[in-house]
Amino acid sequence: MAIKIEVAEREDGSRRTTQYDIDLTKCIFCGFCEESCPVDAIVETRVFEYHGENRGDLYYTKEMLLAVGDKHEAQIAKDRAADAKFR
Ligand code: SF4
Repeated sequence: MAIKIEVAEREDGSRRTTQYDIDLTKCIFCGFCEESCPVDAIVETRVFEYHGENRGDLYYTKEMLLAVGDKHEAQIAKDRAADAKFR
């Protein structure tokens, strides 16, 4: 219930994610979404301390999540490389 996904079909029949929102007030950071994503599109960061001052501040849209990924890209890559050594 933390994630809301909407998809649309492309001309070639493949699907494209048009909406991907996470309500961080419901997310428990279990990592199951990261584990189950077949294309490694979902990764967790080391950031676990989100806060909001207004209702809805912790409702992250696809664009907001992409911005978080961009901001922490270097650390995410480092962590994934370190994890790969144990697989
Ligand atoms: S980390 Fe767990 S609770 Fe949070 S969105 Fe992913 S699967 Fe849901």
